Amino acid sequence: MLREQIFAAAMNRIEDRRLRAQHEQERRTDEIMQKIPEAVTLERQLRSVCLSVMQIADGEKRAERLRQIQKQSEDANGMMRKLLLANGFPEDYLDTHYSCENCSDSGFVNGERCACLQHEIAVISAEQMNARSRLSLCSFESFSLRYYDDLPKEERSAMQRVFGRCRQYAEEFDPAGSGNLLMIGGTGLGKTHLSLSIASVLLEKGFSVIYDSVGSLLHTLEQEHFHHSEASGDTLETLLDCDLLILDDFGTEFDTSFSRSALYTVLNSRINAGKAMIVNTNLSSSEIQESYGDRILSRLLSSEILLFYGKDIRLKKRHSRAHTGSTGGAT
Ligand SMILES: [Zn+2]
Repeated sequence: MLREQIFAAAMNRIEDRRLRAQHEQERRTDEIMQKIPEAVTLERQLRSVCLSVMQIADGEKRAERLRQIQKQSEDANGMMRKLLLANGFPEDYLDTHYSCENCSDSGFVNGERCACLQHEIAVISAEQMNARSRLSLCSFESFSLRYYDDLPKEERSAMQRVFGRCRQYAEEFDPAGSGNLLMIGGTGLGKTHLSLSIASVLLEKGFSVIYDSVGSLLHTLEQEHFHHSEASGDTLETLLDCDLLILDDFGTEFDTSFSRSALYTVLNSRINAGKAMIVNTNLSSSEIQESYGDRILSRLLSSEILLFYGKDIRLKKRHSRAHTGSTGGAT
């Protein structure tokens, strides 16, 4: 999707919200007019006050007349609120309840894009990127700690702590304050499963989340950089804009000078902007240093580190399915 199409799609969503809020307000007005007869008189009065504004002629009395009308309308509004309360409705029942009070679901405040529009653009851009990703979402509920049962006690309780920390991260998520997680451990120990469970909770809450393997993201960036592909070069911007960026499988991508510098740009920009990120890797810190150098390593090590223990769960699952026919568990 091109930038203009994403903008149009975001505006569509916001317009839908505005229409829904307005329809709801009309529905409530009809309801009140049917249930409270006095409201009909009051509503008529309010409307005639509004109409009289248009009939004011220019002249020296204009300002004074406007003040009078404003006073009348405030009085009528106040009476309506009291009437609603007296009949068991909330006093703001007839107000239009917009999703965004800053722009009344118009997308703009004083000619500038409202934060709600910017957010919707980030959400749609992330949806577009995630549609290309090979990863599909997981849930905490389908993560089974029993695959870690035969680990030594300390390692098993470490995995319980990791699981609890991931849930907490998802529950308390704040795009600007949650900080970064660096998940380290061998393949098939649950890193991808838990980070995609976090993604799933946050997407549900309306945050913009991008999840992909580092290799696939670098491939896209490289295409845009060297071949000017039709994706029109917005990937980097989208990666930097989203609320949470999940980089899976860090360390398996091609190690070229382009990929190093692109990775550094992404990590560095997000960390400097204080924006949340989760990075999964099966490399040790010395391996990261060897492949990517000190700059990338030191940026990564500023994250909260979660160590994953265990034997490859995918192998275990296949094994236990073969014996019991059971499904589910962690990958
Ligand atoms: Zn807004």
